[in-house]
Amino acid sequence: MWLCRQLFFIFYLKACFVVTQSTTWMCLICGWIYDESAGSPEHGLPPGTRWADVPLNWTCPECAARKEDFEMVQI
Ligand SMILES: [Zn+2]
Repeated sequence: MWLCRQLFFIFYLKACFVVTQSTTWMCLICGWIYDESAGSPEHGLPPGTRWADVPLNWTCPECAARKEDFEMVQI
């Protein structure tokens, strides 16, 4: 019983981590940061927009670099 509760707790923590974790991407050209949880509403990306859902024709608002010029970063 004790073990079950421990396992449940671990799964619960993992679930929370996955939900709250968002990925941050950085433009390799100018260093502009895109945070998935914050989005970029002024550039047409509502908060929570995952990088995979960002349109392919979207470009960096600072230097017009394309998505392929961005790299995932851990902050
Ligand atoms: Zn840029």
